[in-house]
Amino acid sequence: MTHLAASIFVRSVEQAVADAAVAAERGADLVEYRIDQFTDHPPAVSRLVERSPLPCIVTCRPTWEGGEYDGDEQTRISLLEQVGLGESRPAYIDLELAAYQSSANLRQKVNLVIDHPEQVRPTDTGLILSSHDFESRPADLYQRVEAMALAPACRVIKVAWKARSLRDNLEAFEILAHRAKPAIALCMGEYGLPSRVLAKKFGALLTFAAVDDDAGTAPGQPTIDQLKRLYRWDAIDEATRVYGVIGHPVVHSRSPAIHNAGFAAAQFNGVYLPLPILPAYESFKATLIALLDYPPLHFSGASVTIPHKENLLRFVREMGGEVDPLAQRIGAANTLTVREGGGPFGPRLHASNTDYAAALDAVCDGMGISREELSNLRIAVLGAGGAARAIVAGFAQAGASVVLYNRTFDKAKALAEAFADLPGKVVPARWEKLCDSCCQVYINCTPVGMFPDVNQSPMPKGKRGKGQSGWGPGTVVFDTIYNPPVTKLLEEAHQAGCVTIPGAEMFIRQAAGQFEQWTGKSAPILVFRGVLGGE
Ligand code: NAP
Repeated sequence: MTHLAASIFVRSVEQAVADAAVAAERGADLVEYRIDQFTDHPPAVSRLVERSPLPCIVTCRPTWEGGEYDGDEQTRISLLEQVGLGESRPAYIDLELAAYQSSANLRQKVNLVIDHPEQVRPTDTGLILSSHDFESRPADLYQRVEAMALAPACRVIKVAWKARSLRDNLEAFEILAHRAKPAIALCMGEYGLPSRVLAKKFGALLTFAAVDDDAGTAPGQPTIDQLKRLYRWDAIDEATRVYGVIGHPVVHSRSPAIHNAGFAAAQFNGVYLPLPILPAYESFKATLIALLDYPPLHFSGASVTIPHKENLLRFVREMGGEVDPLAQRIGAANTLTVREGGGPFGPRLHASNTDYAAALDAVCDGMGISREELSNLRIAVLGAGGAARAIVAGFAQAGASVVLYNRTFDKAKALAEAFADLPGKVVPARWEKLCDSCCQVYINCTPVGMFPDVNQSPMPKGKRGKGQSGWGPGTVVFDTIYNPPVTKLLEEAHQAGCVTIPGAEMFIRQAAGQFEQWTGKSAPILVFRGVLGGE
């Protein structure tokens, strides 16, 4: 069993007991008391252990190992000794490998109060030997693990280091897979989350979590709520498939919330994580190869966002995988699917683009028409960037006529030429000519009106159709921006009686397309909407 351990900085017995009670309520089953700054009165620590609502680890981390205790070693060790001799004893005492190796005298004192093969006292307290590196991966990582494994008194091996990239997580998993004793192997920092969430998949003794957002004891530590609610802690097992959003940055992505809620609703054994990868193609390729080439991870797919959409196409092509033809034409893919069977690469890999299908479906549903009926429409697309490229290709492929307005006319022209052979007609137009009287559907693919410039609209009132037909019932106005949920453009369109489609619809539908490719099940759109609406 992998414990969910809440790590708590102790300032007083009352505060620590109260925090541990909250942690227990939220789902933690073990607590680590960090007494780095609570060392003046050893009996109080014993009282804390006695009153603890959960089995506990006692840790007094010195500054030289990234903690806050800056007193002398003798005092620290005799404090741990007294705690170990108390009437109520902790489940574990954590001590740094470097301290344990530093002197025979110190080892003797520690061994006095912990359970080990030669112990004669009745005690259950186990020794966690630990090693931390807050800067990088230690060069002698495996030597440290081995030293812990060989120490007879060590019950649990613990290593934690700052991940340099996602690949470091795989080493943490390897350490767990080959453990000679119960082990904890965690990566810190922005790249380390997989090691924390997937500790359970790889049989770690525990993962640490903070009680609240601002109560973490190590960089990159999630909260208990995030582990339990967002990252599906209770559902994770050895066979759980791993998905994620690849981009840089991805920390604010809403995709983990949507996909994990979807997996839960569909009772699909998967978990979805933020997977940050530096922008260079070499970083993307090296990371994906490492993830795909590690079968126990069950890495099965990813949403791919800025700046890696082009990199995904290139990677899947280079690896001999399959690329959706329209994604190839668009020049960007947002979905990687890893299919069952075969080796790690080749035909197992599939790259597609669910953005354009999402836009098509959002318009079809908004108008109550089928995809076939799109060919009867004249559609104004505003902007000629990445989003516009996918949307123009999708509608032109479906046979619609597209008028492409862009601030830089040459870009509109180039885009129209790139899709000139598709069934629909794509006509470039000057931004100054934009009015609301020529098309049945308007799609904003510019960032105009996006937070924080929420009072702007790409269609200022002065540019309206001068009393011609203009917007009204039957006109569809679709804004791809999803922050704010209702833009000024949509507000004005709504007032004019138009059918409006918010950007969240496209976001939800592109996620739905991915979900369906990965799970083979239809996406729980209502769950997705609920997650986005509830944030
Ligand atoms: P992009 O590649 O940077 O392209 C931006 C486009 O907007 C360019 O054509 C640019 O014109 C035009 N533009 C920028 N500022 C403008 C201004 N002040 N006035 C007129 N035109 C302006 O960006 P993108 O990736 O295509 O993203 C565009 C929008 O799509 C973003 O707001 C994003 O929120 C949205 N989006 C939504 C989803 C979704 O799932 N809902 C998905 C992707 C994107 P120039 O060519 O003249 O520079």
